[in-house]
Amino acid sequence: MRLVAMEKKEHFSYKAICPGCGEETLAVEELYDEIPGLGKAVLVSMYCPKCGVSAYHEIPLENRGIRRVEFRVSGGKDLSARVIRSPTGKILIPELGLELSPGSRPVGFVTNVEGVLQRFLEVAEQLAGIEEGPKREEAEMAVKRIRSAMGGILPFTIIIEDDLGNSAIIPPE
Ligand SMILES: [Zn+2]
Repeated sequence: MRLVAMEKKEHFSYKAICPGCGEETLAVEELYDEIPGLGKAVLVSMYCPKCGVSAYHEIPLENRGIRRVEFRVSGGKDLSARVIRSPTGKILIPELGLELSPGSRPVGFVTNVEGVLQRFLEVAEQLAGIEEGPKREEAEMAVKRIRSAMGGILPFTIIIEDDLGNSAIIPPE
């Protein structure tokens, strides 16, 4: 990727080798923009008309120093708050006992609070299916708590700690 010196809302589009079909048919668009709660970032969208591969990434461009963001989720509308997790962001939900640390292959993602819960739910359901004994019970409890949280029954706080300060939680309008 080219991270060029940017003007506000600078826009590039070009063709690249598609990771799906290996042809040079991947249409890539890069838009440099200011994102509320995040600052300067590059939005990258890709689409291959030949094999249908598509992806969208939002990559922050500023190092803002260590930053911790917190968002209290107490109702259905809060679940739609936008969550921008940079590759260095660690997500914590203390009330649900959940933690997502940057792993060995850290990736950033953009989703909403519900999408974050969905990720945790998938992991907990997998664990509940393969673990035995107390670990299985623990995973089953986690599944129940996450479902309650997704249903708006269980209020919780979502926290992101980011060494480079490039993660954000943007409340719904
Ligand atoms: Zn393709």
